[in-house]
Amino acid sequence: MEQVECVVVGAGVVGIAVARALARSGREVLVLEAAEGIGTGISSRNSEVIHAGIYYAANSLMARLCVRGKALLYEFCQSRGVAHRNCGKLIVATSGEENAQLATIRARAAANGVDDLRELSAAEARALEPNLVCTAALLSPSTGIVDSHAYMLAMQGEAEAAGAIFVFHSPVVSGAVTDDGILLDVGGADPMRLSARLVVNSAGLHAPALARAIAGMPGEKIPTPYWAKGNYFTLAGRSPFSRLIYPVPVAGGLGVHLTIDLGGQARFGPDVEWVDSLDYTVDPARGDVFYDAVRRYWPALPDGALQPGYAGIRPKIVPPSVAKQDFLIQGATAHGVPGLLNLFGIESPGLTSALAIGEEVAALTAAW
Ligand SMILES: Cc1cc2nc3c(=O)[nH]c(=O)nc-3n(C[C@H](O)[C@H](O)[C@H](O)COP(=O)(O)OP(=O)(O)OC[C@H]3O[C@@H](n4cnc5c(N)ncnc54)[C@H](O)[C@@H]3O)c2cc1C
Repeated sequence: MEQVECVVVGAGVVGIAVARALARSGREVLVLEAAEGIGTGISSRNSEVIHAGIYYAANSLMARLCVRGKALLYEFCQSRGVAHRNCGKLIVATSGEENAQLATIRARAAANGVDDLRELSAAEARALEPNLVCTAALLSPSTGIVDSHAYMLAMQGEAEAAGAIFVFHSPVVSGAVTDDGILLDVGGADPMRLSARLVVNSAGLHAPALARAIAGMPGEKIPTPYWAKGNYFTLAGRSPFSRLIYPVPVAGGLGVHLTIDLGGQARFGPDVEWVDSLDYTVDPARGDVFYDAVRRYWPALPDGALQPGYAGIRPKIVPPSVAKQDFLIQGATAHGVPGLLNLFGIESPGLTSALAIGEEVAALTAAW
């Protein structure tokens, strides 16, 4: 039976970043990915926004790893020539009541170490974005956008240069905790069994199911997965804004916001639709509620301008009744299984945080 020092299950942005960090710290790393290539899961179905770290609860993993990840990501993109743009973002209020919330958002961001937000009057915001209608706004200068595939490819290249091996078409179907490490059974065309000293479960939406398939992992420590689909509607024609535009957050979400990709395509979303299957079809009827929401800050949105775009699914580990969750990086002190590190609930800002998650996992497991 093959013996490997470290196995990372899943080659999404997080698994790749973890593999890179482990390999660069001198460890032997094998990445097992069920699909035919990197980043075909959540990592290719998101907004590609480099988040500033504004909304997360103080002292949460999301707050810390987003702020650290953002700094690492900008440095990574600049030094490796990965396409990105530090375009900035406006959080816009459209009533006196919402104006008051901007100060709260600014204070929360400052508690997370994001102290560069600027309050703008309606006229100042309009000077930046002439198509915008608002009563006041907050400018987040450090928000940006990134080519997520170029970012993943660059990290994969560095992981491989440091010795990591990526194997595709290799779904991990089950495992077992033994005295000598963790056994993994890999399916696909060439089934194999191997034993690893360290297994990092970075299987995204399937991370809870994978943990459940490992005999010896206590079931009561595995969170119940809930899937929250996010649908996008793209805008026909040129983007009316050059920055990302977000309304003041609504209960349970960030509101219908506008993001732009590096090709200049504007899209609205993602909304929230609770699902129990991996169906990425976008129902055109869901677009109806977008019109009213968008016209609060962009009244000129023409009828019929929104087309169904694409969808992604958030790997939630809290039920719909719970508004916020945090990343869960779960090791032996939490679940009692030496050598197994589970990454649960890595939803947004996981893309922004990936390099910091890699750093964190390498440090946590250095002595394993
Ligand atoms: C709608 C939406 C919008 C988002 N927008 C942003 C944003 O703008 N900015 C931001 O920072 N974050 C954003 N995120 C979050 C970000 O996309 C995710 O946090 C990140 O992509 C998660 O990466 P991952 O590697 O954990 O998961 P994935 O990319 O899903 O990778 C997991 C991999 O594991 C593989 N796998 C699963 N099971 C097995 C198995 N048993 N054996 C082998 N392989 C397996 C899968 O095939 C997959 O490739 C968004 C998320 C969503 C859903």
